[in-house]
Amino acid sequence: MENVAGLRLPSPLVELEDERVARHGVRVWLKRDDLIHPEFPGNKWRKLKYNVAAAREQGASTLVTFGGAYSNHIRAVAAAGRHFGFETVGIIRGEKHEPLNDSLAYAERTGMRLEYVDRETYREKHRLEFGDAYVIPEGGANAHGVRGCRELVGEIGVDFDVLCCACGTGSTLAGVAKGLAAHQRALGFAVLKGAGFLNDDVKALQKAAFGETTGNWSIELDFHFGGYAKRKPELDEFIASFEQAALDWVYEAKMMYGLYALIESGRFERGTTLVALIA
Ligand SMILES: *Cc1c(COP(=O)(O)O)cnc(C)c1O
Repeated sequence: MENVAGLRLPSPLVELEDERVARHGVRVWLKRDDLIHPEFPGNKWRKLKYNVAAAREQGASTLVTFGGAYSNHIRAVAAAGRHFGFETVGIIRGEKHEPLNDSLAYAERTGMRLEYVDRETYREKHRLEFGDAYVIPEGGANAHGVRGCRELVGEIGVDFDVLCCACGTGSTLAGVAKGLAAHQRALGFAVLKGAGFLNDDVKALQKAAFGETTGNWSIELDFHFGGYAKRKPELDEFIASFEQAALDWVYEAKMMYGLYALIESGRFERGTTLVALIA
């Protein structure tokens, strides 16, 4: 997948300049994975890299994947299909709402066939059969996706103590934690409500990708703002007050809000250096 025109790798690393952080004596760097490529939002390029390679190796002509209506992953798989010559099918949870939102409209324009299934069918999606298509799980959450995410750690050219990321499926967290040095930790921020299950999911993803789990990560569960793709005025105000990047409200704004809250509460000693993944 390295041969896509316009890929920006390694993604930029810029220091956050914000008095709200500086006054607590910590430094925060932003790892701008959101700038890797306009058609692969967020960490989705990293998750698809090895999946596309595996699909090719398998000789598949179609990529099938799953997602909710706001899924960046659906968009990214549609883009990957167009770039690499696969047909693509997106199985979407819930009913079709017109006009389509940006993600789904983009997917359709890019040639993806969208199929809408009810929640019950979606929950049982592992039972669906897709012939010899290559099936990528929701959010790119498999061993290939996790291994792709691990690679971003090696691109960070400053020494740091804590690497923060938003958690949807937890595969980014699973991957980056494996890439850390012994003195470093990873901290995830769940964007779903009641996401305690992520602790097991991240372990399972690490086992699948690396054959072992690592004990160097934890997940904050209290910054979901009502749940996946839910928002509140405080979150919107925070986004408006954040100057260095246009924070994605489904994921990165919740992480940054949570990170600011933890910094404010004195969770990190003065002198701590953090990296926040803007995926
Ligand atoms: C998909 C996505 C995530 C979630 O990553 P997981 O690996 O599923 O936890 C985070 N941020 C952005 C911008 C995303 O698109």
